[in-house]
Amino acid sequence: MRGSFYNSKIGSGARDRSLVCRFIREEGTRLQIITYPHPTLRKVAKPIKRVDAELRAMVAQMFDLMYEAKGIGLAANQVDLPLRLFVINLTAEKGKGEELVFINPVLSHPKGSAEAEEGCLSLPGVYGQVVRPKTVQVNAYNLQGQEISAEVGGLLARCIQHENDHLDGVMFPDRMSESSRVELGGELQEFEDEFQSKRGTGEMPSDEAIAEQWKKWHERYC
Ligand SMILES: [Zn+2]
Repeated sequence: MRGSFYNSKIGSGARDRSLVCRFIREEGTRLQIITYPHPTLRKVAKPIKRVDAELRAMVAQMFDLMYEAKGIGLAANQVDLPLRLFVINLTAEKGKGEELVFINPVLSHPKGSAEAEEGCLSLPGVYGQVVRPKTVQVNAYNLQGQEISAEVGGLLARCIQHENDHLDGVMFPDRMSESSRVELGGELQEFEDEFQSKRGTGEMPSDEAIAEQWKKWHERYC
């Protein structure tokens, strides 16, 4: 599969559609980070079959949004894209460290167990202790279509697991113990109230409009 990922469809067909999409989407899409309880954060993301100029531009935007928010990882769900993709830079600073892009990641062989505090750019200001495997095997593709295969540990392992959870519609409070999650209750309620008030003013699209957008992304990239 190496190399076939870049600007082309994995598998057969769809070359014509790819060309059409490229002409239509020249203007690009402006992304922003969505917060809990936006429905896309609960959507199971779909595997990506094609990478084009717009997707590469959106990945660059994801890094910029992540740096602005001083985060070390950002999943596509968090910018309202229901696609299996996340970005990481453990330094949280543009121009420093290594920018990692994981497309269609698969995690396996979890080993050990470690507890640490986590936060999330889709739950700003909320933190909690989460127990996760210490090391995991990650297989994925980067933006150039090259295979990534590594056993990772430490902060990278935690970050990869946190971001991979997003692709399955899972957020870190779901991984917390019952008792610590209860302590978060009030903070989560504030986000839920704000979401409802945005729905009231029309600032937040309806579930139907959001699902319509999911369909468009899936038609283009899946
Ligand atoms: Zn997160």
